[in-house]
Amino acid sequence: MKFARIGKVGQEVPVVLTSENTYVSIADYTTDIDSSFLSRVDYQEMDRLVEEKRAAGLELQFNGQRFGAPISRPHQIICIGLNYADHAAESGQPIPSEPIVFNKAPNTLVGPNDDVMIPKGSTKTDWEVELGIVIGSQARYLDSQEDAWKHIAGFVLVNDVSERAFQMERGGQWVKGKSSETFNPCGPWLATPDEFADVQSLEMWLDVNGKRMQTGNTSTMIFDVPYIVWYLSQFMVLEPGDLINTGTPPGVGLGMNPPTYLAEGDTMDLGISGLGKQQQQLILATP
Ligand code: ZN
Repeated sequence: MKFARIGKVGQEVPVVLTSENTYVSIADYTTDIDSSFLSRVDYQEMDRLVEEKRAAGLELQFNGQRFGAPISRPHQIICIGLNYADHAAESGQPIPSEPIVFNKAPNTLVGPNDDVMIPKGSTKTDWEVELGIVIGSQARYLDSQEDAWKHIAGFVLVNDVSERAFQMERGGQWVKGKSSETFNPCGPWLATPDEFADVQSLEMWLDVNGKRMQTGNTSTMIFDVPYIVWYLSQFMVLEPGDLINTGTPPGVGLGMNPPTYLAEGDTMDLGISGLGKQQQQLILATP
């Protein structure tokens, strides 16, 4: 099942996609795709509801509505760093023996096609196409990686936008280079795990101004999806609706020779198979 939130900023309506071009509203079932919804949703009941609505002629066509992020603002956004061996190499970093974990401010979450702001004082704004995991039920001290699947609501496409000078040249932790306003485009939809034959074999790509920069596949992750959820649960309690950005494949601006960064007016296009596409324009942060 694919969930989305459509409408103006702050007025998004929760929907289920019934095809690439059609949807039904589930606003009478839940006010939002949030922690409370994800922890109580009954998928069989949801299937019945969607079928009833289709039968009643309540299936609607998309006609240019804005997609919001497919989940409401999470309790936390956790990111995994250097999780693709070839990206670690281009960053000049050794392959980590344990996942590198860092935070991203939850209010960075924006819709998949919303503008991305270059922060004040930025010279090194960079792109990162990533698979995002959305948690479906509280996960703490999981016994095994197999257990992790029960706690996953689904997957999303994210762009883990980064400011490399803030991240690496200003001291302290990576969070400063990851948390600028609009730095986490997400969506267009949240796809439940049953939508995928194998979530560890998804194609991923990102273009800047029409030029292919990143090409990758989730098969080359160092730490895979169940490992990441199991691992994080040993250090923190994951809550329903939490978002985990699982790392980026090679081809970021930092890894180019010479390094290349985003400028006002640039366009990013990105996608992951089964999770749709995004397009963002770069604008300067408003004063
Ligand atoms: Zn990242």
